[in-house]
Amino acid sequence: MLGSSFVKFYKRTTHSIWSTDIINCPHCLQKARIASRNNLNNEKTIADLYCQCLNKDCAATFVMMLGFKHNINPPAKSTAQLAQNLLNSLSKQERAALFEGKIPG
Ligand SMILES: [Zn+2]
Repeated sequence: MLGSSFVKFYKRTTHSIWSTDIINCPHCLQKARIASRNNLNNEKTIADLYCQCLNKDCAATFVMMLGFKHNINPPAKSTAQLAQNLLNSLSKQERAALFEGKIPG
């Protein structure tokens, strides 16, 4: 059975995530599903994930925490912006040398 606070939270949540690939129950270690998500900041990088174990013999409900850690590769737009900022910091001669394949210095 689902806990009553979980059911109340789920019923008032309009956006739901149903995934069984990323969450395991902390009690029986079987797959669990994310029933809903409560974002904890405006950037949506930290959230509580309300989960339900799919093992019928367990059926625990619990909250997992989701948090952004770091980039592996920055977004392409950031890379382009970084390159533009670097180019803007060079003199006209240094930029010309760079585009000729020389290292300005
Ligand atoms: Zn379980």
